[in-house]
Amino acid sequence: MPLTIAIDGPVGAGKSTISDAVASRLGILHLDTGAMYRAVGLCALKNGLDLDDEKSVSALCVSDECRVDVRYENGAQVTLLNGLDVSREIRAQEVGQAASSVSRYREVRQVMVDRQQEMAKSQPMLLDGRDIGTVVLPSATVKIYLTATPEARATRRMLQLREKGDETPYEEILKEVNARDYQDTHREVTPLRQAEDAILVDSSNLSFDETVEKILSIVEAKQ
Ligand code: C5P
Repeated sequence: MPLTIAIDGPVGAGKSTISDAVASRLGILHLDTGAMYRAVGLCALKNGLDLDDEKSVSALCVSDECRVDVRYENGAQVTLLNGLDVSREIRAQEVGQAASSVSRYREVRQVMVDRQQEMAKSQPMLLDGRDIGTVVLPSATVKIYLTATPEARATRRMLQLREKGDETPYEEILKEVNARDYQDTHREVTPLRQAEDAILVDSSNLSFDETVEKILSIVEAKQ
């Protein structure tokens, strides 16, 4: 079986950027599974669906109107919706909330999980998400649960937004972080939780580089 690394954790723990750095240091591909749920969320928004309507969201997800694909360009993930590159569009706050809503549904999760397992079958890969260690890759070579306090995560998010000229107040960002944590940990189908055999990495007091080094040392020890 090829090397598989599972990194799970709550919103804003830095999973995507940390995972990118770790995968690139190891020379393997990184699959950001949140991007796939975001693409489904975007598709539901574009089709004007009520995100609380499980039946229509699930029907859309299995239809030809909502083809989510991932391809790699120079090692970087490009997320496609119906053949169009939506990698930028899916980063909007509203799309993140929509992703959190549509990812509650069993059928949506099944479609995504099948695709993710298929991709990780044939090549060494690092996957980040909410259910990688528990559902997608239960026998991953290495499992990490990457987290930080809600306040630390909200502060990081605020700094990222400021760089883009977005002045959303800290309190609003913290509220959003808490709302997403609640939704992700309380949903009925595969709620976010740490796999029993995952190693906890709390990055609240670690820099980006320190977090990357810590994860690399865990991977090295496991190999
Ligand atoms: O990681 P990101 O914030 O981009 O993910 C967007 C949303 O997709 C999350 O809030 C979560 O609800 C959902 N998600 C999931 N399972 C994954 C990845 C993301 O349910 N493996």
